[in-house]
Amino acid sequence: MFKKVPEKWEKYRRKNLVASLGLVFGLPLVAVLVATIKVWLPNYAEYSFQTLSIIWCALWGWSAFCVVRWPCPRCGVPWLSHQVAEFGAKQCCSQCGLCLYEEP
Ligand SMILES: [Zn+2]
Repeated sequence: MFKKVPEKWEKYRRKNLVASLGLVFGLPLVAVLVATIKVWLPNYAEYSFQTLSIIWCALWGWSAFCVVRWPCPRCGVPWLSHQVAEFGAKQCCSQCGLCLYEEP
């Protein structure tokens, strides 16, 4: 499913996948959990959406923060810092020029 990447990039790829899945599926999961709580535990339903949303935001925010601050395998500066956020732009380290999934 995924192509093989150098070992030093595996951790970044895993963190990026977790952050992406958390962004896409996190809020729908919260909605399903709230609906389940309302059916099975109606006494706890009053603030369940707010509580679970805050927990989801905190977990997703932390995983996204870890991706953004992930150190470049070659030079150690945060790899995503100072990159231009454009579709199709080549993703390379602003310090040393190491591109995504290149051998460090
Ligand atoms: Zn670098």
